[in-house]
Amino acid sequence: MASQLAIQRLKNLLRFAYLLTPSMIFGLTIHFMKISDIDKKKLVSNLFLLKATKGCWGHKIYAWDDEINDNLGWHGCSEKEELDDVVAAKIEKLMAELQRPADGHFDPVQRIVDGFINFRVNKFEKYPDYYKELANGQSPKFLVFACSDSRVSPSHILSFQPGEAFMARNIANMVPTFNPLKYAGVGAVIEYAITQLLVTNILVIGHSRCGGIKRLMSHPEDNSVPFDFIDEWVKIGLPAKAKVIANGQGGTTFEEQCEECAREAVNLSLINLQTYPYIQKALAEKNLALKGGYYDFVHGVLELWDVESHISPPIILPAP
Ligand SMILES: [Zn+2]
Repeated sequence: MASQLAIQRLKNLLRFAYLLTPSMIFGLTIHFMKISDIDKKKLVSNLFLLKATKGCWGHKIYAWDDEINDNLGWHGCSEKEELDDVVAAKIEKLMAELQRPADGHFDPVQRIVDGFINFRVNKFEKYPDYYKELANGQSPKFLVFACSDSRVSPSHILSFQPGEAFMARNIANMVPTFNPLKYAGVGAVIEYAITQLLVTNILVIGHSRCGGIKRLMSHPEDNSVPFDFIDEWVKIGLPAKAKVIANGQGGTTFEEQCEECAREAVNLSLINLQTYPYIQKALAEKNLALKGGYYDFVHGVLELWDVESHISPPIILPAP
């Protein structure tokens, strides 16, 4: 028990060791006798992050554990260690191993810490001017509505950088019509994006195999038990469902109808957006463009389209 506590304290220290200067960790000695393989991997991972952040191992850091010393290339080192080719190759091999799930064990805190350190080392510290400017304010060009689905993050699939896109994510990326009493959450995002941030583009992006769209298309006809919130929410898309069913006439499979509905639901949201007074004003002043999108993550394809409004030339009727 005592050794477990010591390991935990050590791990906690190492998690934040990247904040320390090399001199502050001077003389740090890792001393433990019994430690699991998973803990060893985590420890090695943290030490590599420390190395990656500080550019050196620090001084006089060594472990009293043969396996860890072997992994890190430490063998009783007492002076600053330079990273040679052999150690670099070991690091590469170990990092590849560490990226694989270890025996089904998942540590959420470790994942969050690793993710943040990766961001901090590879982004925040690498582009200080960019993040300094962002600290003073944001002026994103986009408001994006995307599904909550973990596979379709716009920051990932469209490579939006911090500061580029104001984001609203919900089940099936739906935008309801203007209704301050029922949909204040969505309305607040739109109001702030348009009136305060002055975004010039709104993108609503749907995606393939969307669970929310599938639910919209299948319920209540399938007689399944209603959800507390989901069914009420996806009802926003009922006009899209009706259109798809009317178009389909039984000619397409359920899966194909769902994909068609995902696109139609985007179009419906683009129409619903125009019920918000801020959007009507911005469109009338030509300060805003509405765009629809569909991301097919099966084939890695993106479809993108615009909402256009134009006045047709007059038809001249002959005088009586
Ligand atoms: Zn979805």
